[in-house]
Amino acid sequence: RAREATGSSYHFYTADMHDRGIDRLNTEVALYRGLERGEFELHYQPKVDLRTGQVMGVEALLRWNRPGMGLQMPDQFIDILEQTGLIMDAGDWVLREACAAIRSMPLSLAVNISPRQFMHPNLADRLMRMLDDIQFPADRLELEITEQIVVEDEERAIATLHDLASRGIRVALDDYGTGFSSLQRLKRLPLHTLKIDKYFVISLVTSKADAAIVRSTIDLCHQLDINVVAEGVEDDVVMEMLRGYGCDVAQGYGICRPLAMGRLTEWMASSTVASLSGRHTFRPVR
Ligand code: C2E
Ligand code: MG
Ligand code: MG
Ligand code: MG
Repeated sequence: RAREATGSSYHFYTADMHDRGIDRLNTEVALYRGLERGEFELHYQPKVDLRTGQVMGVEALLRWNRPGMGLQMPDQFIDILEQTGLIMDAGDWVLREACAAIRSMPLSLAVNISPRQFMHPNLADRLMRMLDDIQFPADRLELEITEQIVVEDEERAIATLHDLASRGIRVALDDYGTGFSSLQRLKRLPLHTLKIDKYFVISLVTSKADAAIVRSTIDLCHQLDINVVAEGVEDDVVMEMLRGYGCDVAQGYGICRPLAMGRLTEWMASSTVASLSGRHTFRPVR
């Protein structure tokens, strides 16, 4: 029979599948518990206005302190949160925690929103209630979404974007350039901001093609009244190029890594950024 013919390799395969199934199940249970027990934390990465050199906002990035396993990065658990639906509770926690933390600082706040969160009915209503609760102004919040949300049901996504815009909540399209967004689509989406994916930004110096893509994306966005953020700015050569192209905002390790709140306020208080040459002096707003 077929089973006997493949012999041990069949066996090995099922054992491997079994282990992965168990790992996955353990992680799901641990995530569920982690949410209840407050094992999540947020790190904040500053965003700099390239015209003024000032820190104008931060992006909240989720971390999970998994017991016995150290700090887990989003690529180790976000997909599982999304697939199990736990992202709804986790996402609500992220929004509340971040708004409460940033409220008293003169900064805008960017929060990543998963497709499931975005497509949940009455997103704008629920957000407005939360903002009202925490006393966080709607126009200081920016939701970062990916093209994925538009792929499932474009008409509904566009309706939700208009709904958000009418409440003054801004939306940024994240990771631009890695998916399949057409210019046609870009034109139809009421977006406030576009974030050029770090893949293009990192290779700005070495790839003429990527430099051309970044440059023309910035021009196109400005024609469409869309603000441009470059993510993945790792050094000042890239930052100077972006400034020359007229890019509005820069974010990346070359400016500052994502930091826990305590370290963020320390960083904001220091007037210069050690990792950058003396040519730039950031004037943090606080
Ligand atoms: P993203 O929203 O595109 O966030 C930018 C990612 O690039 C972050 O990774 C950040 O640490 C990293 N990064 C920033 N500057 C640089 C740089 O100069 N060079 C390089 N190589 N990387 C840089 P992180 O924190 O691991 O987050 C990964 C992704 O997980 C995020 O990508 C976002 O899609 C997702 N994510 C994070 N937090 C949340 C959340 O609260 N909710 C949801 N739904 N997704 C989240
Ligand atoms: Mg993002
Ligand atoms: Mg991104
Ligand atoms: Mg990403």
